[in-house]
Amino acid sequence: MSVNRRDFCTFGKVEKEKVYDFIFAGAGAATLQIVQKLTQSSAFAKADILILEQDPDKQNDRTWCFWEKEGRHDWAPYIQKTWNHIHFFAPNFKLHNALSPFAYNMIRSNSYYAAMHAFMQQHPHIKIKYEKVETYAETAHEVVVTSSQKSYKSRYFFNSILDWSSLTNQKRYPVLQQHFVGWFIKTTAPVFDAQTATFMDFDIPQYGNTRFMYVLPFNEREALVEYTLFSKDRLKPASYAREIRAYLTKKNIRNYEITETEIGSIPMSSYPFSSHNSKRILHIGSAGGWTKPSTGFTFKFIERKAAQLIPFLEKQTDMRLFDQKTRFWWYDLLFLDVLARHNHLGSMLFTRMFKRNRMTTILRFLDEKTTFKEEVAIMRSFPVGLFVAQVMRRLMRSFH
Ligand SMILES: Cc1cc2nc3c(=O)[nH]c(=O)nc-3n(C[C@H](O)[C@H](O)[C@H](O)COP(=O)(O)OP(=O)(O)OC[C@H]3O[C@@H](n4cnc5c(N)ncnc54)[C@H](O)[C@@H]3O)c2cc1C
Repeated sequence: MSVNRRDFCTFGKVEKEKVYDFIFAGAGAATLQIVQKLTQSSAFAKADILILEQDPDKQNDRTWCFWEKEGRHDWAPYIQKTWNHIHFFAPNFKLHNALSPFAYNMIRSNSYYAAMHAFMQQHPHIKIKYEKVETYAETAHEVVVTSSQKSYKSRYFFNSILDWSSLTNQKRYPVLQQHFVGWFIKTTAPVFDAQTATFMDFDIPQYGNTRFMYVLPFNEREALVEYTLFSKDRLKPASYAREIRAYLTKKNIRNYEITETEIGSIPMSSYPFSSHNSKRILHIGSAGGWTKPSTGFTFKFIERKAAQLIPFLEKQTDMRLFDQKTRFWWYDLLFLDVLARHNHLGSMLFTRMFKRNRMTTILRFLDEKTTFKEEVAIMRSFPVGLFVAQVMRRLMRSFH
């Protein structure tokens, strides 16, 4: 759903005279990480914060996985499983790699939400209200945010509500989704290698798209098996289920129960979400374009942006200056241009990248931490003609 930006007019009951320092729309990963960082900073430790969240019953609505250097402890209290090895499969290609110096970690969202709610209860200057944000408007000195119940004022407004219509109402930037259905299964026999996560298994029918299995084993009998696509349109629910079942049969896993299901769709686009920022309004999380367009990974990018935001707020008052384009934005744009045009080639493109580069370099590349020289080496893994043609198309488009 989308929230309307609108010109200022008083609407509903305005909370009496109170002007918050920050209002956040949504209490998801981005809001919670930023609020925690604000509270830990000396400049904003006592800032008046209001969070408006539409869902009073947010639970285990997602698993967040990310890699980071082994031995980092920031997320340790919430991490439920760590893998030190990764599988990548494609037809006629198998990779089993140690991840060191990285580790692949998983957090289930309920543990983080619960910890953050306890954290907020210890900070009376942070309020959370379960109200749906309907509109917001900026004036010269504040932002007025209107929920289903009331209007509130704040100096700054951070919005984490993703407006899909801004993506779908434009043609300049391709829009794919990382969409998936995952089954948490429990098998009767020990079948999984609990030390190894399957990052991508392309050895499944592609049906003209980019489709793979993502498998996170928690122990020898339990795993999350997720059927994932990088494509324009979601499938019917029965199609995801059919492919997971077929995959399990192919792996000779026949006796299992499904204990939970995870369903999701993450935007994959280089659309400049930050163009919606204004002096006092910053879009954050997926709504701010903090999702890596070519992979859908977001959690660690939120962490990085949240860390950058605190020193930024200490010095700047104009939120339009926060997000800056880097060369990685261009790489993602080109990659998605190619993937949107030739969606069936995803398996080949990812396979070439994993075949021809070291795992640690790939992870640093996806983290946007490589040198230009390393990036050139990665790009040389791909068919040059495909990308040159796409660069030409982009250039032609910018002249028209
Ligand atoms: C199932 C799933 C699994 C994922 N797994 C990974 C992963 O493994 N690794 C990774 O890096 N990324 C992952 N992601 C992507 C990304 O990390 C998450 O989507 C992350 O939660 C994004 O944080 P956010 O704050 O931008 O949005 P959200 O966490 O979605 O928060 C937005 C909040 O806004 C609330 N809201 C919406 N509309 C309104 C309204 N009108 N008024 C008030 N509140 C509203 C929602 O209820 C929600 O709580 C996953 C996403 C999904 C959906």
